[in-house]
Amino acid sequence: ASATDRAFAADVVIVGTGPAGAAYARILSEERPDLRILQFDAGSLLTDPPGAHVKNLVDDADRAAAQRLSEGPNPSHTHESTDTLDGYASDAARVVRPGTYLLTEGYQLGEQVGLPALAFSTNVGGMGAHWTCACPRPGESERVDFLPDFDELLTTAERLLGVSSEVMADSAMAHLVRKRLSDGLDSRRSRSVAAMPLAVRRRDDGSLWWSGSDVVFGDETRGNPNHRLVPRALVTTVRTSDRRVIGVTVRDLETGESYDVGSATVVVAADALRTPQLLWASSIRPPALGRYLNDQPQVVHAVKLRDVPAQKTTRQAGPVDLLSGVSWVPFTDAAPFHGQVMQLDASPVPYDGEIMPGEVVGLGWFCPKDIREEDRVDFDSEAVDGYGMPAMRIHYDLTDTDRRTLARAKEEIVAVGDLLGDAVFGDPIEFPAGASLHYQGTTRMGATDDGRSVCDENSQVWGYPGLYVAGNGVIPTAIACNPTLTNVALAIRGARAIAKNQKPGLTVDQRIKNHA
Ligand code: FAD
Repeated sequence: ASATDRAFAADVVIVGTGPAGAAYARILSEERPDLRILQFDAGSLLTDPPGAHVKNLVDDADRAAAQRLSEGPNPSHTHESTDTLDGYASDAARVVRPGTYLLTEGYQLGEQVGLPALAFSTNVGGMGAHWTCACPRPGESERVDFLPDFDELLTTAERLLGVSSEVMADSAMAHLVRKRLSDGLDSRRSRSVAAMPLAVRRRDDGSLWWSGSDVVFGDETRGNPNHRLVPRALVTTVRTSDRRVIGVTVRDLETGESYDVGSATVVVAADALRTPQLLWASSIRPPALGRYLNDQPQVVHAVKLRDVPAQKTTRQAGPVDLLSGVSWVPFTDAAPFHGQVMQLDASPVPYDGEIMPGEVVGLGWFCPKDIREEDRVDFDSEAVDGYGMPAMRIHYDLTDTDRRTLARAKEEIVAVGDLLGDAVFGDPIEFPAGASLHYQGTTRMGATDDGRSVCDENSQVWGYPGLYVAGNGVIPTAIACNPTLTNVALAIRGARAIAKNQKPGLTVDQRIKNHA
């Protein structure tokens, strides 16, 4: 079809197909099947069903091909992915995980720390096709307490993501790790050590199915004849008239043609950096847009478990099983770190050595950032990125508070590691800023329009009726835990608001008449 043939309309346009965009599609499909939903992603379709996790692709070559396809506009010009522990242990400032790609410029300005490891994924399913699936609940000051229904939203988000604490909690080694952690920590902390809630399920044949956007979409979205997903379609502008949303402009990345889509409701779920990019490109620039950018400073350590009973398993090709599971040392205000303890040969930090599967565990301590208005992404009015969108400029630094928190995290991670075994490589490593892959705050939610937030409690942009933002950027608190569960929880609230307020969708007859 030519561009003009496709000058169509929708009741709701969703930009992005990561877990956030998928949550909007799912809730709207459940609650308002009458609404015509068009969902665009700049990236390629990798899997059938759309948006599945690439870890579910059992063939190594298929998985590698899907990862390459996710790595941005010019994958052949980018990096070699870091795939050994040595790579991580080096001082290399720019770690890259398979399926992601880095910003090529503007990630570090002047003397600032910047975000050298700031990464993106461009594919149907977004980073949700490549993630580790850890879905802890936020606790204490991480919580978004101005939302009265926050707990119910988290429960619904767990349902949409298929989160369970049981799937891998059961092996002997997982018990051993958890017991050592609990014995050493629980009596002096306000939240207890637990098995990490993971978005993964065990299928009837015993294999694991890691949740991606496919699980969030669910049969409800796939079976909704009013929902349509369009890959390789870059949304370049959100169109407004008098601050009222009227639609989007889309560029077909196959043909290069652009076309307009009319819609009075647009949800931008294009990740924490590209959501503000699209708003900025559309001249929608609330004062807080792109500000309060925060990434979780991260410290990692590895230990070889002490006194492990002999295992019969050997290492196999393909996706690995988690013999020592993933354990969780929850964030508390008194010990403000989110601790994740997981088998290294299954984590995004692979291990190369000659060891028994499951025997080496990595500890990752994520810190809350000392959030500041001046930490921000802004955009160049002339230079463009690989997609022709305004080039990002990252203004980002660590404060004295951040440095103190990091120093404390290092002490704590060594102490916790000692509970488990012996250090594998000397001192803990501080990852380069941006390596957490958890970028927040750039389109943050607020209870009032005081200039320090971009959207209201339903994720609707202040002063722009019909425009919603979604993703980790909406999270207003200094969260240290993995953010996707909270991200999806906030998306559910926004989707419900649309479901409640949107007028009935047009019937097919009405649409034909309108376009005649
Ligand atoms: P994304 O998943 O990033 O999706 C955004 C989508 O928008 C992309 O598909 C992109 O192509 C599309 N897009 C962008 N701009 C445009 C445009 N202009 N037009 C059209 N489409 C556009 N989180 C956790 O909570 N737990 C974990 O254990 C965890 N582990 C991780 C491990 C790895 C290796 C990685 C890469 C990430 C991990 N994350 C984890 C982070 C997690 O994947 C993200 O929090 C989550 O995917 C965010 O969802 P999202 O929908 O907001 O954004």
